[in-house]
Amino acid sequence: MNSEQPRQPGAEEDDFGYGLFPERRRGEGKKERSFLYRRIFTLNKRCICMLKVALEQNPYAKLLLEAMKNSGCTAFKDRHFSCEDCAGCVSGGFDSSTSQIVLCQNNIHYQAHMNRVVTHELIHAFDHCRAHVDWFNNVKHLACSEIRAANLSGDCSLKNEMARFKFGLKQHHQTCVRDRAIRSILAVRKVSKEMAEQAVDEVFESCFNDHEPFDRVPHNKSDANYAYRQFQNRERYYTNL
Ligand SMILES: [Zn+2]
Repeated sequence: MNSEQPRQPGAEEDDFGYGLFPERRRGEGKKERSFLYRRIFTLNKRCICMLKVALEQNPYAKLLLEAMKNSGCTAFKDRHFSCEDCAGCVSGGFDSSTSQIVLCQNNIHYQAHMNRVVTHELIHAFDHCRAHVDWFNNVKHLACSEIRAANLSGDCSLKNEMARFKFGLKQHHQTCVRDRAIRSILAVRKVSKEMAEQAVDEVFESCFNDHEPFDRVPHNKSDANYAYRQFQNRERYYTNL
């Protein structure tokens, strides 16, 4: 799903050190390459920077990181997260074979979006850590994790103000979670829409009500901050026993 950006050719050319200073290329032909190089470099740098902010400051991400650590699956910024260019309009993904979270540097443009993507993918990573999820053979396992990710990451909390007026907050939230889970399954698996809908509906009740490691659905940042403090107190209490 996510293709890595090919390395820039020309580094091995006899460039007399100009490779170190891409803006100082000689000749017209090399200008475009240096522009492309700079663009990718900038996107990557910006992505890594926003990732750092999300992991250090976002209460959803901080809670999930601590919960993973407590479950024996500590996630490290450099080893378990990767900023890459992605095809289409995908924002991120969880690669279960390497336990790596991919962040699409060409499609994530602002911090709030980065926070949501990091949280969404961390919920998949948390599920992968705590349960033996059969991501590839059991579409219901995937459906359950997608429901939880959509429900708990804030994917459905901020957006569609109009729809909220239309359906009321609670019903809109459920409808949004169901729709997003179905869309996520269709994006990563070659299954029919009917199959995806059926899988989501079959596990919806139990997975929608499974808020682990949050104690409730955090609907905004202050909810998440509260949940984070609660989580820390809970852990402190357990470690004191
Ligand atoms: Zn997902």
